[in-house]
Formats: sequence, structure tokens, C-alpha cells
Amino acid sequence: MTDLHRLSIRELSEGLKQAQFSSRELTEHYLKRIAKIDAKVKSYVTVTAEQALVEADAADAVIKSGNAHALAGIPLAHKDIFCTQGIKTTAGSKMLDNFISPYDATVVAKAKAAGLVTLGKVNMDEFAMGSTSESSYFGATGNPWALDHVPGGSSGGSAAAVAADLAPIATGTDTGGSIRQPASFCGLTGLKPTYGRVSRFGMIAYASSLDQGGPMARSAEDCAYLMNVIAGHDAKDSTSVDKEVDDYVANLNGTAVKALRIGIPKQYFNVAGLDADVKARVEESLKKLEEMGATLVEIDLNMTEAYVPTYYLIAPAEASSNLSRYDGVRYGYRCENPKDILDLYKRSRSEGFGAEVQRRILIGTYALSAGYYDAYYVKAQKVRRLIQQDFLKAFENVDVIAAPSAPTTAYKIGANLSPTEMYLGDIYTLAVNLAGLPAINAPVGFDKDNLPVGLQLIGNYWSESQLLSIVHQYQQNTDWHTKRAAIAEESA
Ligand code: GLN
Repeated sequence: MTDLHRLSIRELSEGLKQAQFSSRELTEHYLKRIAKIDAKVKSYVTVTAEQALVEADAADAVIKSGNAHALAGIPLAHKDIFCTQGIKTTAGSKMLDNFISPYDATVVAKAKAAGLVTLGKVNMDEFAMGSTSESSYFGATGNPWALDHVPGGSSGGSAAAVAADLAPIATGTDTGGSIRQPASFCGLTGLKPTYGRVSRFGMIAYASSLDQGGPMARSAEDCAYLMNVIAGHDAKDSTSVDKEVDDYVANLNGTAVKALRIGIPKQYFNVAGLDADVKARVEESLKKLEEMGATLVEIDLNMTEAYVPTYYLIAPAEASSNLSRYDGVRYGYRCENPKDILDLYKRSRSEGFGAEVQRRILIGTYALSAGYYDAYYVKAQKVRRLIQQDFLKAFENVDVIAAPSAPTTAYKIGANLSPTEMYLGDIYTLAVNLAGLPAINAPVGFDKDNLPVGLQLIGNYWSESQLLSIVHQYQQNTDWHTKRAAIAEESA
């Protein structure tokens, strides 16, 4: 049983049901791998070994009774942005280094109810602000394909853990690309659902009108299994939508690639900074989909230039408001020996937040300030509407839209991009969040340095089944998603 980490979610589910192995064996196998290999990858902030084994034993008992959920007994890792009762939830920040939530996020509660086993909490950019996971207070995470490169961000720990086979699946969150871009950098499949599909309750807020949780895994099939657990309406989240949830696994072959019209935005493939290898791999993947029967249709998305400035106004504005709660009084980091209440606020926030978070709070506070509100925030909201309309118009003629997930492959750790360079790297992912649409990343090959490249497919509202189905069929006809980094081949 040394190869348990090579099994897909479906295979794990079947193996557990047929008692080929127990959840305890499977969980111990992953914990052993984490103990050995994560010293190099550094994807976990907290490993919950003891509790995982208790959960595994409980899952084994339910599986024996014959009434288990399909995913009972299967381990997973949660991004450290989802609140976990009794386990530290840091959001990658010194501010929350000592924070233990009194309740579970809905996503975590649903995973527990299905019998999934929590291996631990994985690293991320501080408060999900970033594209490299380097802004974490707990240090950088390595990309399993090249440890001196970043896994992307902000869900970099989730991506690295799955890509190094230190968890079979993981949760992530995506405010402006944080599921799709790390999935792209680490050669994984990651789905950002429609805004409102997955509950945000207990998910530490960055920019509330953009944040959305979703699955990160090796394949569309694995993502579908986790979506079946986490999707759905939640009375505790007023922005979650009360709409019937698809059976994403049952629908994996439900979309006909033959009749599919894939929109290719003219503007997207002329972006300055689009790496030649990325462009080539994405074009090859589109060719493959064409061979499978899809039709490629050139489309216009005229608002492309507005994506970065609009997002980098709205996201910091909402962040500055959401992060005002960290004042050193109720919970989180508190400075030593404050002189008075102002000193307490000032120093707790200056010492507790990292540089990127402080930059965003400053930008957001400025944009929301009385004299500038109309000129910046209100204007950005209007442009946001235009970006959404641009997509809706495109969807009158095409079923899905194709794009790279990122203009480049993974950066080197310590590359020290300027904030504007870093923000420009988000060009392909931001608009999806601004419009509230679903989108998926699928691995489609490698660049000259053997770093993974990702294809992004953007769908209309509530088209998660369609996106998963298209990628699933692509993955039945290709083998990019089966490639493993050398470190994932190491045994524990
Ligand atoms: N890189 C983007 C940002 O820094 C997106 C992050 C995210 O989706 N959480 O805001």
C-alpha cells in the first residue's frame, strides 16, 4: 500500500468501501508523507495529526456500517482562511497567529459531515492578498515542480500540498484568481465557482463581493467530488444563493464538446507580458478541443485594459473595511505596553499586518475617503458593471471563453516583483471575480523549464457542471493532469 497517494478520489472512495485499505491507513500514509516531504515544500502551517486519526477511525466505523458518504474517510487540507473550531486559523498573518475560532466555517462543517478527514491547514498569502504565497507571515512555500519557485497565490499552500501528494484534495479561495493561478503554477485543476455557490460563512473576509471558495485537485473529476460536498445555499451567508445544486460527478460527461462554441478573446492573446511558451501551450490545448469537436470563435472583450485598475480599487476598498476589525482589542495580535488606546490601535496594526496588507489598507482607505469616494470607488463600480456586460454579450454567441490563467509560469521565490508588476500578472483572472462568473484552470503542458502551464475556461453563471465536464473530457483525451513532480514520486 505504498502508492495510496497516487489514487484518484473515485479510486480512494471505492478502495475504502471495498475495505482494500482503511481511512486510518490512508490518513497515516499521508501524515507520514507530510512529516517527511513537507520539510522541503512547507505547504502546511498546522498539521492536525492526532485529530485526523480520530476522524479517520470515526470514518472507518461509518464506512463499515454501509451508510457512508462517497468521500467518507478521504483526507483533505484546508486553506488557512477557513475557520476551524479548536484549530488555529491564521490567514497567513501575524495578526491571527494565536487565533482559534469558536466555530467551523460552513465549508469545513460540510466536509466534516461527509466524513472527510482534515490533515491540517495550509499556507497562503497574508489575508489572501498576493500571487506568490510569499506574503505569508509563516514564510514562503515551494512549488513542487521546482522548489526555488513559488506555487502561486494566494492559495499556494493548497496547490503545493496537492501537487506534492501531501493531500489528495484541498480547499482554496479565489478573490481575483487565487484558486486558478496557483492551480496553473502547480499543474492542477482548480474551480472558482459562481459567486454565491459556496458559502463564505467562516471564511476570513478579504473582499466580500469577490471572495469565493472552491476545490483544488488533480483532475476535474476530483474537483467534482469535492464540489458535491461544499456547494449549496447557507442561511448563515446572505450572499449564498438558494438554487438547486447539480450533481457535479454525475454530470461529468453531460456537456457535448462536439457542439461547443469556445470564445477566444482577441484582446487576451496580445497582452504584453504573455509568455511565448504559455501562449503556445494554451493554443495547443485549444487545438485539441477543436479536434474533439469544439468550434473556436473569435470574440471581443473590450474592457480588458480596465480589469487590473478596477479590481485593485474595489478589492483594497473592501479589504480596508473588512480588516478594520483587527484592532488589538477583541482578538488577534496586541502590541506590548500600549501608552493609550490610539497607540494600541496603531502599533497592533502596524506590527500585526505585513507590508502588502498595509499597502492595500492605505489604498482602500484613500479610495473610500469622503472627498475621493465618487471619483474612485463609485467609478470603479460602474466600470465593474461594464466588464460584466462585456461578458454577458460574449455569452450570447459562445458557450465558454478560453484564456490563459496567468501570463507566465511560476516566478522564482524572492523575485521581488514591484506591486504593479505583480498586479499585472492577475490580468486573466480578475474579471471573472468582478463579474461573479465561474471559471476553471486545467493543466495543459509545460514551459521550457518544465514548469506547468494552465488553460482557463470561463463559463456563464451556474455553469460549474459544464466547465467540469469539458475539462473532464479533455482529461480523458490527454494526460497532462497525470504528470507528477519528482517530489511527489518520493516515498515516505
Ligand atoms: N492576486 C490577487 C490579489 O492579490 C488575487 C488574490 C486572491 O484571489 N485572493 O488580490
